[in-house]
Amino acid sequence: MSVDATQPYDVSNIFARILRGEIPCKKVYEDKHALAFHDINPQAPVHVLVIPKGAYVSMADFTALASSDEIAGFFLAVGKTAAQLQLVAPGYRILANSGFDSHQEVSHLHVHIFGGTALGPMLALAT
Ligand code: AMP
Repeated sequence: MSVDATQPYDVSNIFARILRGEIPCKKVYEDKHALAFHDINPQAPVHVLVIPKGAYVSMADFTALASSDEIAGFFLAVGKTAAQLQLVAPGYRILANSGFDSHQEVSHLHVHIFGGTALGPMLALAT
């Protein structure tokens, strides 16, 4: 079911549980502000998720409520993760779903990093 990005943060969401160490993840990168790990159902040869450590449902929530340090730290972590995955030279795509129309499934902000192949058109045709 898609996430309602206007709802309050749900502490039982799967990424909150990963952050608390209650369920495992295949970690790629971690720092004070962010955690990156492999997607459990990869949609490309490389498919990694980067999440902020703070409790934010969506990009709207994050940019409205997070500190400048958290916002800068999170986006730095996205760039560092892509570099660590050696995706800078071949190229990669980042994507963040937010709310119903995007079909966001997990109610903790996350950026997908896709790479490892030519990724094709940016979007399936939306009509
Ligand atoms: P989204 O549709 O943008 O909310 O994407 C959620 C992503 O989380 C999907 O690509 C799922 O495959 C991924 N996912 C769900 N549960 C886990 C998990 N336990 N570990 C890693 N990735 C997960």
